[in-house]
Order: sequence, then structure tokens, then C-alpha cells
Amino acid sequence: MPFARPRIREQDLTDQTKDALPITVRNVTKTYGPVHALDDVSIDVESGEFLTLLGPSGSGKTTLLMVLAGFTRPDCGSLKFGDTEVIRTPPHLRDLGMTFQSYALFPHMTVAGNVGYPLRLRKRPKGEIAERVARALDTVQLGGFGDRRIDQLSGGQRQRVAVARAIVFEPGILLMDEPLSALDKKLRDQMQIELRHLHEQLGMTTVYVTHDQREALTMSDRIAVVNHGRIMQLATPRDLYERPANRFVADFIGESTFLDVTRQGDGVAYAGQPLRLGAPPPAAQALQLMIRPERIVLLDGDGTGEQGPGRDGMNLFAATATDVVYQGDSYLLHARLADDTLIALRGPMRGTADLPAAGQPVTLGLAPEDSVLIDAGGA
Ligand code: ADP
Ligand code: MG
Repeated sequence: MPFARPRIREQDLTDQTKDALPITVRNVTKTYGPVHALDDVSIDVESGEFLTLLGPSGSGKTTLLMVLAGFTRPDCGSLKFGDTEVIRTPPHLRDLGMTFQSYALFPHMTVAGNVGYPLRLRKRPKGEIAERVARALDTVQLGGFGDRRIDQLSGGQRQRVAVARAIVFEPGILLMDEPLSALDKKLRDQMQIELRHLHEQLGMTTVYVTHDQREALTMSDRIAVVNHGRIMQLATPRDLYERPANRFVADFIGESTFLDVTRQGDGVAYAGQPLRLGAPPPAAQALQLMIRPERIVLLDGDGTGEQGPGRDGMNLFAATATDVVYQGDSYLLHARLADDTLIALRGPMRGTADLPAAGQPVTLGLAPEDSVLIDAGGA
């Protein structure tokens, strides 16, 4: 069930401007003793954009969100909302709403008490608070829940209360720290769509934190992949998946096999055979060919294909099937190359096509445009 569309406001309840401000982070560093929680981070979040910080646990995602919110002062660097430097501005003057990694709701207060808290902090008049709280609760499908206590709510409902509290004064910027990680998978999938709708309706510049790559791909306009306090790559979901800038990003998002390749003239070679490429190789010390399971194809089971460029302009790989798994709509094949590398291949099941048996030689094909080279270092 999507969030209700908020009523169009003829005139706003306050004189606050509701611009979705762009965020400019420049050279922000934060250390805790020897730990570089943030290491010279620079990011531009566009006005109204849904940007996700994606990275493993301990990579610095929460620290960056806390710097944006004003709860953590970085060692150095600059932070602008629109044209205004805010690095010294306290949190409640930053025109942003936030949900925390633990919901951080007040258990002894009612739902309405929790949602209205940021407005009481800002000393808004009672009537305005009541009206805005009701509107925020409607938006998250909790109309009529205002008098409930927090401990009477399910996990999903608590999450909605946290979101309602974050949007109650209609901030220009919304920050969310792993808002769905405590929910079970079904509810999480549903809430992903709802939060996305909410963003489309309210249009706030949104910075969202998750360690779940699929969630990031589902929800984001762009994703910043974070590791060891550094931005490894900032790009659209599609660019991250199809053109990862380095081995860390390629490993973290999706599955892949990596083959070491050597430079040969303007191009590269694998096992002595030149590869056909869709784009020139990147400038890097060491290069690897990234192979996604759904991009490499099974050409035949007879193993007659030679290595190197061949059939239909594809790069061909002679291999031996080691495992073949029928999965109904698709099949999963593991095959061993001559150098012992295991390649995973996923293909659609069609008609009566035979699958190779384990131990059988196979020829695998990879189109030039799917033959993506990445910097083998840079983790
Ligand atoms: P994430 O949210 O990506 O899991 P965090 O931003 O919470 O990562 O933490 C990044 C690094 O900074 C971790 O190594 C963490 O232990 C450290 N860290 C974060 N906050 C503090 C703190 N208040 N004191 C000491 N170390 C901290
Ligand atoms: Mg965190």
C-alpha cells in the first residue's frame, strides 16, 4: 500500500521555504583515534535527489550522516546546504529530518507525542503542531494512531512513526540511517517501494544509508559506495553494476568472476588471446575482466570453440562444466577454465534445450560490450 498523497497546500502553515536543497560535502575527514571514519570525503547531492550511501559495516556511513545532521563535527572540511555553509550550524537549525539506525522513538510518549517532538522543539503553536502531526501520520498510513503508545506498535509501524517524525516539519533534506534493517524481508520490500513513493511525493533531497546492495539498487537515483571512510564510486545503479570503477565496487555489487588479463598493444589479452572490447581499457596498473553470470552465455556443449575472439564477434572461453543446476525459470552453470578459474553462468530455461552434464566440455561466449575491464586494485 503506497503512502497517501499529501494534500496540496494552498498556503503553507509557516513561512519556511520548502526548497529541496542540494548538499555539497568537501574534503570532510573524521578520525576516532587511529580510525579514519571519514577520509577526505567529497560528495555533491543534487536538489531533490535520492542518494544512497552503500557500504559494509564500519565503512563510515553513519558517521557521514551524523556530519550532515550536525551531531558529529568533522576534524576538517566544508558542508553546504544550498549556498550556505552549515558546518557550525546546530542540528535543529539545519532544516533536515532524520531517522536513526535504532528508531530512537520515545517509548513513554504516544505516537503523536513522538511525531510532534521536532515541532515542540521549534516552539511551534499547538494548533499547527496538531495539524502537521495529523498530516504526517496520514502520509505514512498511520492516521488515527496518534494516541497509541509506541510499545503497542509493530516494527513496521514504529518505522513509519520514525519517518513521520522526520518529515513532520517538511524539511528540505531527509536523512535515513538503515531504516529498514530491523524489518523482515517482505515488509522491507514493501517499505522500499513506499519510501520511494514518499520521496517522489515530497521531493526532499534524501540521503539514505544501507549495507544492502539490492536495496540500494532498488531505491536510489545514485549510489555512493563507501569503504574505509572513502567514496569508492558515485554513480547511477546501472553504471555501478555495469561499469564498476574498481574491484571493491565490482565485488560488493552483484556477483562476478574476475580473470587476470595482460595489456597487448592498445587492448588486452587473456591466456595469450586478444579480447574484443566494447571500450578502451582503463588506465590502471593491473586489469581484470569482470564476468557477470547473466552476461556470459553458453554457446554449445561440444567444446569445439577455440579460445579468443570468434563466433558472432564474441570472446570465446573453452571450459568444463562442473555443476549444472536446474532452477525452473533458469539454470545455473559452473564451469572451470583451463587455468582452473571457476565461472558462474546463469541462463534462461527455454523449451527443450539440453543442459550440459557435469564433466562435459562447453564453450562460453562473452560479447565485447559485456567484456568489462576493471582496475584490479583500488579496494
Ligand atoms: P557504518 O555506519 O558504515 O557501519 P560508522 O560510521 O558507524 O560505520 O563507523 C565508522 C568507523 O568509525 C568504525 O570503525 C567505527 O568503529 C568508528 N566509530 C564511529 N563512531 C565512533 C565513536 N563515537 N567513537 C569511536 N569510534 C567510532
Ligand atoms: Mg551505521
